[in-house]
Amino acid sequence: MRAFGYLRPTGPEEAVQLLAGSPDARYLAGGTNLVDLMKLEVERPRLLVDLGRLPLGGIAPADGGALRIGALVPNADLAADPLVRAAYPVLSEALLAGASGQLRNRATTAGNLLQRTRCPYFQDTAKPCNKRRPGTGCPAREGVHRDLSVLGGSEHCIATHPSDLAVALAALGAVVELLGPDGARTLPVTDLHRLPGDRPDEEHRLLPGELVTAVVLPPPVPDAVSAYRKVRDRASYAFALASAAGVLAVRAGRVTHVSLALGGVAPKPWRARTAEQRLVGGPADEASFTAAVEAELAGARPLRDNAYKVPLARNLAVRLLCTLAGAGEVR
Ligand SMILES: Cc1cc2nc3c(=O)[nH]c(=O)nc-3n(C[C@H](O)[C@H](O)[C@H](O)COP(=O)(O)OP(=O)(O)OC[C@H]3O[C@@H](n4cnc5c(N)ncnc54)[C@H](O)[C@@H]3O)c2cc1C
Ligand code: SF4
Repeated sequence: MRAFGYLRPTGPEEAVQLLAGSPDARYLAGGTNLVDLMKLEVERPRLLVDLGRLPLGGIAPADGGALRIGALVPNADLAADPLVRAAYPVLSEALLAGASGQLRNRATTAGNLLQRTRCPYFQDTAKPCNKRRPGTGCPAREGVHRDLSVLGGSEHCIATHPSDLAVALAALGAVVELLGPDGARTLPVTDLHRLPGDRPDEEHRLLPGELVTAVVLPPPVPDAVSAYRKVRDRASYAFALASAAGVLAVRAGRVTHVSLALGGVAPKPWRARTAEQRLVGGPADEASFTAAVEAELAGARPLRDNAYKVPLARNLAVRLLCTLAGAGEVR
């Protein structure tokens, strides 16, 4: 690991100023991703701005029945929070499906959202990679891509976003609160990450120096039920091959509300808007769910070794919706 500077500001504004004045600086939260990447020399910051002393903890009710989650809330605390477990079970389940107990104690809400891809070429500085070194190529397309994306990739990058939390937040319609050199603003989680296009190195829409200060969940949808399902190579900690987060409300056999997001299949948490549009107002049955999810996946462009993800994601999402329909119908 290379030598680096280390500062511990006590206020968000001070942290933003430190980062904005130093292009090679990085915010340090739990460090469970950033420090690993520094050891691999994928990340080479000259300065770490440790967020640990900032007052960005806490989970508290907000205006209009929303729930505000501080950027530094550990994943374990968020998963165990009684309000989250009662009103947003999809979020708690997604967190508990990710990483290990020790990692969840350390990993934070914002750090989880902004963790980097697990593409093996990205993590190996001896290999070319457009995301790590723009213009060097994407060896994953012809090489090892079993775990990589089938939706939303480009000829320049097919990395997947690894966060389970982000998939649940996309389904819930969460909003990220940001503080930057020019002030505060908000961004829907679904707009936080970019698709790679011809600039896979530009992963998110944060402006230089912007700090995630909180994530806000909208009020729970009346009469809706929610859940998260994940398929991985082993039951202990492993990243998603495919996952699905769903929120569903059904009345008299018809869908009155649905939001669905897929994970492990795209470079960002994939909100399944095509499927949602087909489902609202229609019958809450397996045939309808299957047709809608297949319409969503019609745009999939699998490569040699990851075509299995298309039926996997379909079956996972359909099964999730069937389960939610069974649990949630208001007769
Ligand atoms: C063995 C292992 C297994 C794992 N399995 C899973 C899994 O199954 N599912 C899953 O979702 N994750 C998994 N993870 C990833 C883990 O969840 C992330 O490493 C963790 O959530 C990152 O959070 P952190 O606080 O440690 O972030 P850091 O490592 O501190 O930071 C990550 C990035 O976010 C930036 N950042 C942090 N906070 C802010 C902020 N407030 N504003 C702006 N930028 C910020 C940092 O600059 C850095 O670029 C696994 C990790 C390991 C090591
Ligand atoms: S998929 Fe993306 S991260 Fe992986 S090698 Fe290609 S450019 Fe790099």
